[in-house]
Amino acid sequence: MTDTGSVYLVGAGPGNVKLITLRGCELLEQAEVVVYDHLATEGLLRWAPEGAERIYVGKQANVHTMRQEEIIALLIEKARQGKTVVRLKGGDPTIFGRGGEEATALAATGVAFEIVPGVTAASAAGAYAGIPLTHRDCASEVAFITGHEDAQRVGESQVDWELLGRWRGTLVFYMGVKNVTKICEQLQQHGKPRETPAAMVHWAGTARQKTLCATIGTLAQRVAEENMGPPALVIVGEVVKYREKLAWFENRPLFGRTIVVTRARAQASELTERLEQLGAEVIEFPAIRIEPPEDNGPLERAAATIGDYDWVGLTSVNGVETFMEALFAQGGDVRRLAGVKVAAIGSATAGRLMDYGVVADLAPETFTSEALLEAMRQTRLLEGKKVLLARADQADKELPEGLRACGAIVDEVVAYRTVSENAGRMPASRLEAILNADGVDWITFASSGTVRNFFDIIEIERLAEKKVRLASIGPVTSAAIRQLRLSVNVEASEHTLDGLVDAVLQAERKTT
Ligand code: SAH
Repeated sequence: MTDTGSVYLVGAGPGNVKLITLRGCELLEQAEVVVYDHLATEGLLRWAPEGAERIYVGKQANVHTMRQEEIIALLIEKARQGKTVVRLKGGDPTIFGRGGEEATALAATGVAFEIVPGVTAASAAGAYAGIPLTHRDCASEVAFITGHEDAQRVGESQVDWELLGRWRGTLVFYMGVKNVTKICEQLQQHGKPRETPAAMVHWAGTARQKTLCATIGTLAQRVAEENMGPPALVIVGEVVKYREKLAWFENRPLFGRTIVVTRARAQASELTERLEQLGAEVIEFPAIRIEPPEDNGPLERAAATIGDYDWVGLTSVNGVETFMEALFAQGGDVRRLAGVKVAAIGSATAGRLMDYGVVADLAPETFTSEALLEAMRQTRLLEGKKVLLARADQADKELPEGLRACGAIVDEVVAYRTVSENAGRMPASRLEAILNADGVDWITFASSGTVRNFFDIIEIERLAEKKVRLASIGPVTSAAIRQLRLSVNVEASEHTLDGLVDAVLQAERKTT
């Protein structure tokens, strides 16, 4: 046994967090040090433990944060300290990623290492741009070539242009944006017909993907016209034609749209997944965090004596969870609710109750306090009855006052607090910069609390002039937006996450 740690050279995939391997993800979860590149998306760092050291070693064309020897020295140093080091690299570490050099250096110093493959950019382009790299009808070979070389220096070139000129299969050039003119010229000079199909795929496999289709005679000009920059691949060959029929990804309804999700971190993923599935790029910026009440006493006392109440009203999934916890806290269980009517504000709240084996007596179809009040009123079972409302600290007064007006005796307890979350994954200044540069299409709000907290944290200059639009889950959330003198662009007609997504989709359909 030695106390030297290990270095894992992990392929991060093309920039879409979901395209890392299970092994890569598992290693990130165990990492003590993560050393990552420009192309290894920062989103992946969420899998590393909070205490893990994160070291950015850069490398964008012309901006080298750390030299290659320094990176290697760093990996060895950290491993010798006994650390588990994940060296995260864009795409596959062994394809134009200098993974070979890093592994060789580790092998020479006796540091244990493992290489974890990744989805290389060419594979991502093949799948997401609909350009199969090989095809039985027209491409039985595929070559990956660096486009980084100065293609004019043919004599000294390591790239065999004569061979490529004769190549009948697919050619994929990495790092070729700057040299695209030269690449296309060299191919023609070495015998490839001008009409040979060619494409450039920018940020393949991510929500930022863009694809240009042309021929080797016209590609360079198209790239200049569209001002396409790195990272991008040049793909040359008959397979490019399949894209006409296979471009599934860029045709998704929310493709190319950037959407901010402001829900609390623990609850964001459901909305994020739906939006991503529709092709959107999602920025999760949790504006609130759910915290227990400052004093749990009132909630626990109410839960302990819940049998004295006729009704309990729960207006959110969070409320259900904390109320149930309080019920269980003193050794109680759901039987304490026997004989108590349970009113839930909507299907999500009722669904969470069901997880505890409780079927809500009421769950109105419109998920607002108003509708809940109306539904309770219609039971005609409020006069002189005791009602417990277990809700958020900032909950509105409408419901309790309305119930009292019907003759009910209402006790309100704070079941949870929504506090401003300013320590999200992304610093506020970064999101502000993206918003101010017009990089966001939608901000979605699923509660009034998130609206207030979001605009407390984030300052958007002249919002009205920006392309960003605001989507609200329902009237209470919309009112909170309007209170800030902002306009609501869409409001969900069904006040659920599905409704919110539908509202955004419909608005997008109208504008495209
Ligand atoms: N190891 C990486 C390649 C690193 S070289 C891999 O296996 O993908 C960097 C080059 O990769 C870029 O200049 C670009 O040509 C290409 N590249 C990386 N990610 C890309 C992406 N998402 N879309 C298009 N090209 C990409």
